[in-house]
Amino acid sequence: MVIVLEKNVADKQIENIIKHLEDFGFAVHKSTGVEQIVLGAIGVKPDFDTRNVKIIDGVAEVYRITEPYKLASRSFQKENTVITIKGIPIGGNEVMMMAGPCSIESEEQIFTLAEIVAKSGAKILRGGAFKPRTSPYAFQGMGEEGLKLIRKAADAYNLLVITEVMEIAQIDLIGKYTDIYQIGARNMQNFSLLKELGKTNIPIMLKRGLSATIEEWLMSAEYILSSGNRQVIMCERGIRTFETATRNTFDLSSIPVLQKKSHLPVAADPSHATGLRDKVLPMARAAVAAGADALMVEVHHQPEKALSDGPQALLPEQFMELMKQIRLIAEVIGRKIA
Ligand code: PEP
Ligand code: MN
Repeated sequence: MVIVLEKNVADKQIENIIKHLEDFGFAVHKSTGVEQIVLGAIGVKPDFDTRNVKIIDGVAEVYRITEPYKLASRSFQKENTVITIKGIPIGGNEVMMMAGPCSIESEEQIFTLAEIVAKSGAKILRGGAFKPRTSPYAFQGMGEEGLKLIRKAADAYNLLVITEVMEIAQIDLIGKYTDIYQIGARNMQNFSLLKELGKTNIPIMLKRGLSATIEEWLMSAEYILSSGNRQVIMCERGIRTFETATRNTFDLSSIPVLQKKSHLPVAADPSHATGLRDKVLPMARAAVAAGADALMVEVHHQPEKALSDGPQALLPEQFMELMKQIRLIAEVIGRKIA
């Protein structure tokens, strides 16, 4: 249930309304928007009479939300969520580019790529130190050594860091080095991990599960939001379909679908969505045109030697070309790339 408060409602009155709702047995979350304050009451039984709430002093409107997700819903928060990290906004008018290698491999590698990423005008460096590989025999990542390197490289070039967290035991360690936690597709429904990450105050990018519906994906975001962390970015990275020509099928329509259903920023990852270097540029253009708030792409200066995802990594000059082209697309729809 969503409760819209009257304009200019006093703090004391808000406290009173929350108290009433808690007495009814609801968990209450508050959202302070530009124009109005909205309360989300979780745990409403189907037979609860919303008129009991409508009559409380200071309440303007009461709506039942039929979606199973509440805090992630556009009805709970009308305005887009903008997550600002060290002055860099995600979810605003600028489309944020996150770029870098699939895995951190060496100091030389991550510094070379950080320089390229910074030169392109992008603000966020990606790179995995803990890798969710299909084969246990494949490179599993450099671990803490990798985290130290990506932090050092990002700091040298004034970039933010995004890196994947795979399990609860890694949360504190990775939190010392990263600006954004990435939850990989394979962990989208690792509910205990989501709940623990929800207790941190570091922004989180939640990738769509390999075969997750949009509703399941939003329910995973709801796990994080309801645990206290409101800084969630959704990331479309392609889903499993019958098609084998690309690694996954890039579900571009999930971008506008999510933006209608939710206030959370939406990112797109054309690298994992296609798995093919020459498909990344056209799909990046498409994602910006579809309204993505951020993009994530993999770049490598020696992709033939990459320890993971070499075939989908853009060469530096291809990445520069991508940045040039998406700047033009962004301009057409009144946005900018950063
Ligand atoms: C990655 O970003 O390198 C990655 C493993 O992505 P995903 O979880 O989308 O497969
Ligand atoms: Mn990868």
